[in-house]
Amino acid sequence: MSSPRNEARRAAMSRQPRTFDAPRLPDGHRSPVSTYYGRHVLDLLKLREKLPRETYQSLLSTLRSGTPLTREVAESVASAAREWAVSHGATHFTHWFQPMTGLTAEKHDAFVDLNITMSGEARVLEKLSGSQLWQSEPDASSFPSGGMRSTFEARGYTAWDPSVPMFLVESANGRTLCIPSAYISYHGDSLDQKTPLLRSNEVLSKHATAFLKLLGDVDVKHVSATLGVEQEYFLVDRAQFTLRPDLTLTEKTLLGASSPRHQQFEDHYFGSIPPRVIAFMEELEFELYRLGIPIKTRHNEVAPMQFEMAPIFEDANLGNDHNVLAMDIARKVALRHDFVCLFHEKPYAGINGSGKHCNWSMSTDRGENLLDPGKTPHQNLRFLAFLAVCLKAVRDRSVALRVAVSGANNDLRLGANEAPPAILSVFVGEQLTSILERMIAGEAAKDPEHFVLEMGVAKLPALAKDNTDRNRTSPFAFTGNKFEFRAVGSSANCAVPMSVLNTAAASALAEMTERLQKKLVAKGANRDVAVAELLREVFTETASVRFEGNGYSDEWKAEAEKRGLPNLADTPAALAAAKKAKANQFMVEMGVLSEAEVDARFNIAIERYLKQVTLEAETLAEMVTTQVIPAAEKQLAITDAAARALAGTAGRKDSPYGKRVKALADAVEAALTGVESLQAKLQDVHGSHDELKACVRLGSEVRPLMAEVRAAADTIETLVEDELWPLPKYREMLFVK
Ligand code: ADP
Ligand code: MG
Repeated sequence: MSSPRNEARRAAMSRQPRTFDAPRLPDGHRSPVSTYYGRHVLDLLKLREKLPRETYQSLLSTLRSGTPLTREVAESVASAAREWAVSHGATHFTHWFQPMTGLTAEKHDAFVDLNITMSGEARVLEKLSGSQLWQSEPDASSFPSGGMRSTFEARGYTAWDPSVPMFLVESANGRTLCIPSAYISYHGDSLDQKTPLLRSNEVLSKHATAFLKLLGDVDVKHVSATLGVEQEYFLVDRAQFTLRPDLTLTEKTLLGASSPRHQQFEDHYFGSIPPRVIAFMEELEFELYRLGIPIKTRHNEVAPMQFEMAPIFEDANLGNDHNVLAMDIARKVALRHDFVCLFHEKPYAGINGSGKHCNWSMSTDRGENLLDPGKTPHQNLRFLAFLAVCLKAVRDRSVALRVAVSGANNDLRLGANEAPPAILSVFVGEQLTSILERMIAGEAAKDPEHFVLEMGVAKLPALAKDNTDRNRTSPFAFTGNKFEFRAVGSSANCAVPMSVLNTAAASALAEMTERLQKKLVAKGANRDVAVAELLREVFTETASVRFEGNGYSDEWKAEAEKRGLPNLADTPAALAAAKKAKANQFMVEMGVLSEAEVDARFNIAIERYLKQVTLEAETLAEMVTTQVIPAAEKQLAITDAAARALAGTAGRKDSPYGKRVKALADAVEAALTGVESLQAKLQDVHGSHDELKACVRLGSEVRPLMAEVRAAADTIETLVEDELWPLPKYREMLFVK
């Protein structure tokens, strides 16, 4: 029978892996990646060739030591960028930025310009001036500002971030030069995700450098946060996606009965990658390599049709821009393969959702990883000191970190026994635990040199290898030479959690520096004794945040409560707790956000939650009313007719027929009354002027009602004749590859 759903199924089944025009060697093999890697990036190597020597040097000194950029340098870079871009087929340029919509934004301008000569003739030429490179003024009134920039004074401007190279984005018929930018209001308030990340990197660098000086690393000039993002995503066939209003509007299936096969066979993870999918990955990676994004791994994830990509880590700002760009390109390339790429944290009920593990560390300008246990006793002690910094950061700022990973979608994942719980704890592994416990017990303080030596030579270098026991249930896990922040959701902009984490570390460093200074004064010259004493104190103070056990268990919830660790189950709870405890005040004290910016971000988070859950509820109500109930009505008519034909049988409630009619009728009634109460509840919630309260009610009253409506709809799905069901089913979306 021909129906849209059958056609979609047929289309999905008959698709072939797409090939694309990859660069090839004369013998037909694909060219090595190194021959086209970064081709679409205006990196420093290319700029060095194009810029006068002094201009290039002064750009370098801006990038390396933050000396202010001059107009002359901007003018010169603009001209080089224009020449490079135009010679590569670009017709337009755009400031590329990350407003608080969760997406990227761009406003294109053509290079083309008219030059009027002395004699009044118009000459057409391509142009990009220094000031056009430097800043641009998008019509800002339609981006979220959390109340900082009311629509009548809509001025906001984007400002070039020279620390990330410009790049070319290709579309079907042309190319555009993208200028990575920050987005700020006329008064200098940040309206984006990038600015706080940049500020937090600076603050982290400042405090880490000062702390390192006290530890004896006097020639470190700069410390940067490093970031490597493991990005999970789902693919769904485009034809099926289009037939589902819920996927189209919310990227999530709001209803859909579980297929008897879900992930119980555990056969997808690391399994053979389906041919259509690997064809997509290959084209995606090609695009990303040209953009200088160092994608390293690709594999199937745990859930069916779920996959992951991860790059080689980079400086946090660059790594974050690259992740945001990779998501954008992945969406576009997926469409060419007739897939839709879903970054939603929980597109399907009953199977794992998607996260974005942020692998994070700190590195000196000499390239030393500060969370690498190292080889010498000094490196070991420094490693332990930075480990203490991380423990303190998470212990002291757990609410802010919890808010930074919150959101209506991630709520469906965190704490659902597939992802880390909402309680923020730190996993360090057995071996480190025993070292920390010994330090707490005082062994280190008695004889620090010996202790460090013993650890250094015998134990710590083995850590990286030994630390393979992965605790998947921990939201923040040490994995040998970095931390893995696992609570971050797949659709998140990592700049949000990373700026909080950097600032939390900076604030821990500031306090530890001060305490160490006092000890050094008091103790005279023995630095190792002072450091060991400080570490002993910090490890003791932060013992409550360390947890090595099963984060999914109920015992942990009880234990965490005893330890005083917050368990903020959903976004409204996290936001309310943050407001009450002024959890982000430290960001203000550290100079990363102003009070107004903290408030604005809070308002935006509330607004997004309100809009998201409301959209989901309204979409669900509409689907049930216009798709589920009509299918049930058709089925009831058929069943009823059949029952009449078998007169007498149907009347008996306990006959199989009677049960079928009743089950269907009950489910229809439950769905209809459910939708009615859902709509009434929504109206009621939105009548309230207190938006935070409205959020709390959306989480605690509306979402449970949605679950009831869904349960009824899913029951109907299992009772209605397959041919009558209008929506692609789970089994079709997840198992037809
Ligand atoms: P695993 O699979 O053991 O978690 P991988 O080596 O696959 O580890 O790393 C996962 C991610 O962590 C990759 O993106 C990797 O580049 C990144 N990573 C490795 N070292 C660091 C570091 N020092 N700082 C930030 N990210 C890192
Ligand atoms: Mg990992």
